[in-house]
Amino acid sequence: MALHPLITICGTTGVGKSKLAIELALKLSSCSGSHGWQGARIINADSMQVYAGMDVITNKVPETQMQGVDHLLMGFKKPGEQYFVGQWVLDAIKAIDETHSKNQIPIVVGGTSYWIQHLIFPDRLVPSESYVTLSPVLADSLRKSLSALPPHLLDLYNALPDYAEPASINPEAAFQLHALLSALDPPVAARWHWKDTRKVLRSLHIMKDSGRKPSEIISEQSQSLVKPRYRTLCFWLYARPSVLYQRLDVRVDEMIEQGLLNEILALREIASSQNCRSVQIESLSSDSENPRTDYTMGIYQSIGYKEFRDYLASSQRSDKAFSDAVESMKLSTRQYAKRQVSWLRNKLLPVVYATNANSGQDVELTTPAYLLDATELGDKWNTNVRDLGQQITEAFLTQQDLPDPKSLSVCAQEMLTVNDKPTDPIAVLNARRRMVCSVCTTDGEQPVMIEEGKEWELHQKSRTHRKLVKRANRLNSGQQRHAAAIRTEGQRTDDETSWQDLNLSPS
Ligand SMILES: [Zn+2]
Repeated sequence: MALHPLITICGTTGVGKSKLAIELALKLSSCSGSHGWQGARIINADSMQVYAGMDVITNKVPETQMQGVDHLLMGFKKPGEQYFVGQWVLDAIKAIDETHSKNQIPIVVGGTSYWIQHLIFPDRLVPSESYVTLSPVLADSLRKSLSALPPHLLDLYNALPDYAEPASINPEAAFQLHALLSALDPPVAARWHWKDTRKVLRSLHIMKDSGRKPSEIISEQSQSLVKPRYRTLCFWLYARPSVLYQRLDVRVDEMIEQGLLNEILALREIASSQNCRSVQIESLSSDSENPRTDYTMGIYQSIGYKEFRDYLASSQRSDKAFSDAVESMKLSTRQYAKRQVSWLRNKLLPVVYATNANSGQDVELTTPAYLLDATELGDKWNTNVRDLGQQITEAFLTQQDLPDPKSLSVCAQEMLTVNDKPTDPIAVLNARRRMVCSVCTTDGEQPVMIEEGKEWELHQKSRTHRKLVKRANRLNSGQQRHAAAIRTEGQRTDDETSWQDLNLSPS
């Protein structure tokens, strides 16, 4: 069966994605082009805009600017509710099917590229993200590993906590969780530092929920080639940082004028009345005023919420505190934009390219990816973004030859060129393993772990490490002289146990 067409628009915050989406949708409804589709609907892929109300902090496009185009999956979750990628993918598929059945084109738009990636390329989500099995079948290999666990780790597995305190607060508990993961699934444990409590715990929950070892799920996935779910045209709307950052600064000031602070106050109100799940978070441990607010989930991750916390909590509310908060929000926004670009270049594009390479000459299975340059606005927007986007869309829908993406602009040439990155899940799993530095580890229950590769090399050259090596050598040579003295007396020594063995034993 032929794959249905899908258009996606990714890009950083504040670059004009919604505007472009509406322009493409309007064009598709106005011209009865030779493609035969009648109009388009916009499907939201922004993890903040799924929340109802709070239009300023979530940067929703005002209804007056929607120009009658349907916007789906927007504003339907309550603050405090959680909504994960797996559920969004299911909801988006439903909305896309419905749109196709109306003979319309779905345009998926949003800054949460991670969601879009998992929509386009299926079968790459771990079980806890895609579904929850209520009574999982325990795989033989996991059953075997469980039966070999020492009793205290088995108890921990059976009573696995939903949340764990960060390692900085409770290092013993954090290390025990890592020890449990190391015993059950060493390749996955090697991926995380023992202080990455959340990630460690999540891997353990995946195991409990699915009845399988995460590394086995990953290796199964890596044997199946990625095949796109739709015939997708991917737009990346891009503006040069120097220009974009200025625009983002202006937008922060506008958000404040439009009532950002009232929304934050309303969110705080909801959080304190709602008795959210009690989570102790590092950054929150000093927040005695409101210890049950989970600042890390859902809409509470919006930029601005955290930045204005101290200002709003203070009784004085000084001008200085206000301008500090504004500056800090501007900084966070720029950093977010940077991370978004980095995700597109380092995660999404490599998968797109790898899939396209696999698809050979099959146009159906090829995902064309275009960068549209939105650095300049006004007339330039119309030619570089709107018109170009509309032309490519028309060619894509009528299955005509498409231009070379890198030929469209200097920006495109630059940003669409990426180094080869491993996209195969097994390669990704094995790419950044942590190793224990036996020299620097003084407490086996709190080992010093360093990422292999560059960081490991840097660590080996660091002053602290070299100092400890010298000390260990001095100690060793002393011990050897001592041992030699003993041997000459004809006694055996079993001084062969290395530091590493001592430090790596799980408990
Ligand atoms: Zn070291």
